[in-house]
Amino acid sequence: MSATTRIDRLLAGMGYGSRKEIAMLADAGRITLDGAEIEAVDERIVLTPDLPARMQVDGAALDPLPGMVLMLHKPLGVTCSHKDPGPLVYDLLPSRWKRREPGLSTIGRLDKDTSGLLLITDDGALLHKVISPRYHVPKCYRVTLGKPLAGNEGDIFASGTLMLEGEEKPLLPAELAVESPTVARVTLHEGRYHQVRRMFRAVDNMVISLHRETVGGLSLPDDLAAGQFRVLDTDAIATIFAAA
Ligand code: URA
Repeated sequence: MSATTRIDRLLAGMGYGSRKEIAMLADAGRITLDGAEIEAVDERIVLTPDLPARMQVDGAALDPLPGMVLMLHKPLGVTCSHKDPGPLVYDLLPSRWKRREPGLSTIGRLDKDTSGLLLITDDGALLHKVISPRYHVPKCYRVTLGKPLAGNEGDIFASGTLMLEGEEKPLLPAELAVESPTVARVTLHEGRYHQVRRMFRAVDNMVISLHRETVGGLSLPDDLAAGQFRVLDTDAIATIFAAA
């Protein structure tokens, strides 16, 4: 059976306003379904995937329904926290999305000084699946280093015995692909705090720039500029797990 919900409840949960404000929008003829103005916002509606294309608010297609996943090209200088002062990744999204229920969260985090592919969702189960080592979703980072590689880093990272300072468990094996003496790609199968930076610190080097290129089988597209985002369809979401 398909899920149904009251129109005012749906739109309020998507950040369009309070239920009272949604009723006022409808009274003003600003909400339509299949081209016809909605009159009774307490009516129930079936949540079909095509609803955003069929319903309009102020002439614009409805935002993605709950269960949304988006990829953001995270620029440098913004943080993934909900609380930090200063620019947040959520500031790069439409402002009403801050009022969505369930709320949006980043799937894992990238440091303020790391750029690249960041996934954001309101789907807690999916979030867990992507970050849990149990589901083996690899994440690939392009790293620029302060010093030329010594040559043994790939073996050390792959060993499964590397201990980071202050931790009790060794890192899972990670892969290193060398592009030049100071540029490499690292593929991780877990996500520990500042992991890439700390891995290179452990081999007496220093990360100068860090950019995440892929999460599972999903790559950051060349035409998605820093600061831009794209909502993922079900095929793109499946791609995340394709490399697992
Ligand atoms: N490793 C880091 O050091 N920083 C990130 O943002 C991600 C992985």
